[in-house]
Amino acid sequence: MDFIRLRGIGVSPGIAMGEAHLTGRILFTQRKEYVPPHRVDEEMKRFRAAVVRTREDLVRVQDVIRAKVGDEHAFIFDAHLMILDDPSLISGIERLIGEENVRAESALSEVHSRYEKIFETIADDYMRQRKSDITDVLSKLYRNLELGPEEEPDMTGQTIIVAHDLLPSEAALRLSLGNVLAVAMDQGGQTSHAAILARSMNIPTVVGLHDITRRIRNRDILIVDGTDGEVIVNPPPAVRKEFLGKKEKYDVYRRELRKVAKWKSVTLDDVRFTPMANLELPEEIPHALSYGAEGVGLFRSEFIYLQRSTLPTEDEHYAVYAKLAKDVFPRPVYIRTIDIGGDKSLPQLQIEKESNPALGLRAIRFSLKFRDMFRVQLRAILRASALKNVRVTIPMITEVEEIGEVKLLFAEIKEELAGKKIPFDPNIPLGVMIEVPAAAALTDLLIKEVDYLSIGTNDLIQYYLAVDRSNEHVSYLYKPLHPSVLRLLRFIIEAAVREGKEVSICGEMAADPLAAIVLLGLGLRTFSMNPIFIPRVKKALRAVDTRTVRRVVHQALNQASAQAIEETIIEKLLVRHPAAFLQIGPLS
Ligand code: PEP
Ligand code: MG
Repeated sequence: MDFIRLRGIGVSPGIAMGEAHLTGRILFTQRKEYVPPHRVDEEMKRFRAAVVRTREDLVRVQDVIRAKVGDEHAFIFDAHLMILDDPSLISGIERLIGEENVRAESALSEVHSRYEKIFETIADDYMRQRKSDITDVLSKLYRNLELGPEEEPDMTGQTIIVAHDLLPSEAALRLSLGNVLAVAMDQGGQTSHAAILARSMNIPTVVGLHDITRRIRNRDILIVDGTDGEVIVNPPPAVRKEFLGKKEKYDVYRRELRKVAKWKSVTLDDVRFTPMANLELPEEIPHALSYGAEGVGLFRSEFIYLQRSTLPTEDEHYAVYAKLAKDVFPRPVYIRTIDIGGDKSLPQLQIEKESNPALGLRAIRFSLKFRDMFRVQLRAILRASALKNVRVTIPMITEVEEIGEVKLLFAEIKEELAGKKIPFDPNIPLGVMIEVPAAAALTDLLIKEVDYLSIGTNDLIQYYLAVDRSNEHVSYLYKPLHPSVLRLLRFIIEAAVREGKEVSICGEMAADPLAAIVLLGLGLRTFSMNPIFIPRVKKALRAVDTRTVRRVVHQALNQASAQAIEETIIEKLLVRHPAAFLQIGPLS
């Protein structure tokens, strides 16, 4: 086969070269096939046997996953078992076989395409994920009609997995086996389950390649460049050499990152700062720690809800939080209660669409409306706090009253747990996110009610500057160094420091070296970010002296524009601390 280069989206950096292993994708038949009436019983038996085998497979794989990667991924299979037990799904297929004499494969395919059509009419990202769960289960059933038990993935030899879309259960299984060099997929995005898992396991991954599964064959040689989002099929020697050179450079860079991770987080004048990680899955912890994270500054707990088709139970929540607390111990973990609602809808609750989701029922507003769900989450967080390194962060606070309501609920749940002698941390710190301008202006009063503040600059800047940064027509106005933003941040940070309380920033801004230096100058000491950016921020902050930075930043705040602020800071600091502007590696 010829040499081709395919462009996709790099979702997990790094480069690998190896043999392609195409993962089987069930192609549901398009033809409606019938069986003679005397064979209908046999066909029905074949289908029912496939249901039994599929259930056995699911339980068996669930056990493997539980042993290898833990309960949080094993829960996916509970959802799949529920789909398999759904009477309307099974009876739909049985009706086609029993009443219309349709062959089992055709009946399954027809029911699958009915579900697909229903899902296609829903433009919700989350719902599309549920579609893949149904496809996942029906594919297993289909395979079991013919092939007997599902074949185990090849556990020998290192390969590059090429798939149309790695279904959640497949991603959990295949990536945890330790023999995957890289992943290339037709579909998928940055936040798909497979992408998050691959990142956390340092497996170079490119998604969104459209038709790679049709353009390559098993055992083709591939180079997967997860940093630049490219896949090269059957590269000639010159291209191989070029990529091996690139891989070598990347490996040097990774070693450099690991070195930086071990350095102390102090500025030139020995002022301590704390880099922490923003995470979505507990599997990302080893990766975050290897980059030098000194705790999890933001755990986006909504991912627990977005990964399943049913509402998570208290034990499911608990499994995730307990793993986090244990794996990060003795470092702290800040668990943010769900930031769902608005555009991240939960179809399990069938809430009507809002005309202005960013200003609607999201985050704490949502939790206070659906209190039973909120209680489940708070109870699980409290149970996981027994190690005393867990903190609870409440998102999207707008007014003091909301904190009062949260505290009441918290007190009730603590009492319940104490009554049942369930261990928890009675002094678990409670903090709020400052991401609504109204809350920012109230910082001096809000801070008295809580133990710490976490500034969510992603939302705060968007609401403060009235700029939807995903709207390409206005995103040029989204400026973290806008003088208004910096003045507001100064006010928030100073109010917290005055009160002797901890304040951190967990928006993207903290991951930008120049912005991090500015924040240091405004008095910030805790920076939470996507862990891959920790080394570069650490390098920048270690290269400056807080007194100089403070003076320069406060002078710069008199400038009228973001550009003038940036220029002033670079000009004045470059002379004193040139090393702060020497970035490391391809990710900077
Ligand atoms: C933020 O708004 O800055 C934040 C960290 O929250 P999220 O990005 O999850 O909205
Ligand atoms: Mg936010």
